Amino acid sequence: MQIVSSIAAMQRAAKKWRRAGRRIGFVPTMGYLHDGHLSLVKRARQAAGKNGRVVVSIYVNPMQFAPAEDLAQYPRDLKRDLKLLRALGVDMVFTPGDAEMYPVLDGGDRPPPAKRRQAGAPQNFSTYVVEEKLSQGMEGASRPVHFRGVATIVAKLFNLVLPDVAVFGQKDFQQAAIIRRMVRDLNFPVEIVVAPTLREADGLAMSSRNKYLTGDLRRQATVLWRAIQTARAALKKSGTVPAAKLKAELKKLVESEPDARLDYVEFFEPDTLAPVAKVTRGTQLALAVFVGRTRLIDNAPL
Ligand code: AMP
Repeated sequence: MQIVSSIAAMQRAAKKWRRAGRRIGFVPTMGYLHDGHLSLVKRARQAAGKNGRVVVSIYVNPMQFAPAEDLAQYPRDLKRDLKLLRALGVDMVFTPGDAEMYPVLDGGDRPPPAKRRQAGAPQNFSTYVVEEKLSQGMEGASRPVHFRGVATIVAKLFNLVLPDVAVFGQKDFQQAAIIRRMVRDLNFPVEIVVAPTLREADGLAMSSRNKYLTGDLRRQATVLWRAIQTARAALKKSGTVPAAKLKAELKKLVESEPDARLDYVEFFEPDTLAPVAKVTRGTQLALAVFVGRTRLIDNAPL
């Protein structure tokens, strides 16, 4: 397994593989890997084939974090990540630094070193990919600069890794929809695969941020899964339920936990992300909940 952190080396390898007719499967991540990430890597291997090449990127992208968010605390363990990826037969891990992804082009307004890992838009960088429809609600409403940062970094990574197929998780449902739209609208020559959400035994969706859930918060965090189950049960009983009624019920459930606060719960069409007034079979549910200071998201079809 090769580990590269320079853009030049990454592009050189990708071009070489392409010339040799190898399929490239790609999984972008922010590291601190769990079984959910690893399931995407296995899916990428399947899609690339035995003779293909699988690339995993590990990069915590400052541009998709707002200043008040957890960029500085985001968990990291590169040594462990590399061990897990080696065991899966990954061909290349791309681990760029900020200076590589967002170089300061002229010395003039170089930020002081202490401010290097500032959230938000880096200096001297002014070209963005902005999806304007699907990113309006839910995560986009709660985290205004988030999807601009995500779409821009994924576009950059696609230009570096040159993948034939890229695998994303259903866990970030809105993100996957936006990436699909970006690829379609801008004609990126890449196939997007969206793989199912892996969960802990008690239903909590796996996430690098679960590391923040200490003590009783870990138990309280299962309220997202319980909310999904509650919505499913309500629908099974009644066939259709007004979204407003179900939202109120789920808010009450979430906030019955002492340290949980609902950020949003939404019912929507899975293809368009358009909110629905009546919840029926096939409607998608997504929610974001603060458990203590940790913001968790989950979603599921009903
Ligand atoms: P992240 O490292 O959080 O940026 O996630 C990298 C990729 O892994 C994204 O495509 C996520 O949707 C996906 N992912 C995160 N959690 C899970 C999970 N529990 N199951 C499946 N995929 C996941």
